[in-house]
Amino acid sequence: MINLDDFDVTEKRVLLRVDLNVPIKDGLIRDDGRIRAILPTLRELLDKQASSVILVAHLGRPDGIDDSKYSLAPVAQRLSELLGIDVALISHEIAFAPDSDLNAASRISLLENIRFDARETSKVDADRQALAMLLANLADVFVSDGFGVVHRKQASVFDIAKLLPAAAGRLIQKEIEVFNKVLTNPSRPYTVILGGAKVADKLQVVRNLLNQADALIVGGGMGYTFLHALGYEVGTSLLDMDSLDEVKECIILAEQNQLDLLLPLDVVITKEFSADSPTDIVDVDSIPANSMGLDIGPETCAFFTERILNSATVVWNGPMGVFELAPFAAGTKSIAAALAKCDGFTVIGGGDSAAAVRKFNMDESSFTHISTGGGASLEYLEGKELPGLLVLEGKK
Ligand code: AMP
Repeated sequence: MINLDDFDVTEKRVLLRVDLNVPIKDGLIRDDGRIRAILPTLRELLDKQASSVILVAHLGRPDGIDDSKYSLAPVAQRLSELLGIDVALISHEIAFAPDSDLNAASRISLLENIRFDARETSKVDADRQALAMLLANLADVFVSDGFGVVHRKQASVFDIAKLLPAAAGRLIQKEIEVFNKVLTNPSRPYTVILGGAKVADKLQVVRNLLNQADALIVGGGMGYTFLHALGYEVGTSLLDMDSLDEVKECIILAEQNQLDLLLPLDVVITKEFSADSPTDIVDVDSIPANSMGLDIGPETCAFFTERILNSATVVWNGPMGVFELAPFAAGTKSIAAALAKCDGFTVIGGGDSAAAVRKFNMDESSFTHISTGGGASLEYLEGKELPGLLVLEGKK
């Protein structure tokens, strides 16, 4: 795959696809990690004398409708602050007008939310290609750096790369290097930690890791389906009955593959899904019928921590509890702290686990890598081929 080492951008108009899908509440950006993650590529393009850079990104799911709630305006402002250079936000109307000249507007411009155009995510090839043509008209070359969207076959990720000379940016390059290392040549012992709410999303990862990892730690909401599969009653905790048979099969396969499966020993329970509801700590064989587990307990934290500290490679995807509510954040915090302390190669697989680390104000440099792609990193770990990467390799 071509990267910026061997890609000429001098005096060229560069279309740069990035992932700027940041959490915004009341007009304020809650976590600007994804914005900061694009700075190295952006600065390099400017240093290498690109004549202009047009950033293309999405925010949320506006479903093809121009809805100001999903405007990238706060992102353009934050990016301007971080770069110290004015970043102009350009509407589709202006950008796609027949005589538009974005070069004249600003050296760096950010196209308004590309998902305001329904063709971006269309399943109809011709629709996506039509939008990709409009994008291609804006630039001379394409740089793909939105790792968080490379698992999507979308106009600004996939189709555009067939229309212009294309290369991977520094962020995608780094993400690929890290995930290739853990998939093909991990230092051992290799421990994978999965958490979060949706079991079904992560079972394919479990299957793919069965003969790669040495240990699999399962916590968070998905842990209760595993516990139930082993015969525990989990009260009103999250339980995915549709995935139960597959979870049972994974448990058997793990045993056959001599993969250590580590599940919670104790949990923090409560009766209501609320930060004010009184809590208790119980062993997993004593969860009352009217209570739900919303975090792993202290004994589990110690158990998981010990395994993490003794690992040479750790990959973590998904929180250990409802970390958004203070009484249920301790488990996720202790796992993050264990990864930070671990001397090995530590990777945080994007999404909520990355958000948690930032929420806890942890020093990001204590981890080897914090991925910017939740879904994309999961699909990579599943062993799937990602359209946005295949197209850069010229394979699609
Ligand atoms: P996912 O998108 O599958 O990674 O799930 C992330 C979400 O899982 C977060 O918003 C957490 O609050 C939630 N979560 C983690 N542990 C639990 C739990 N024990 N019960 C319910 N939700 C949980």
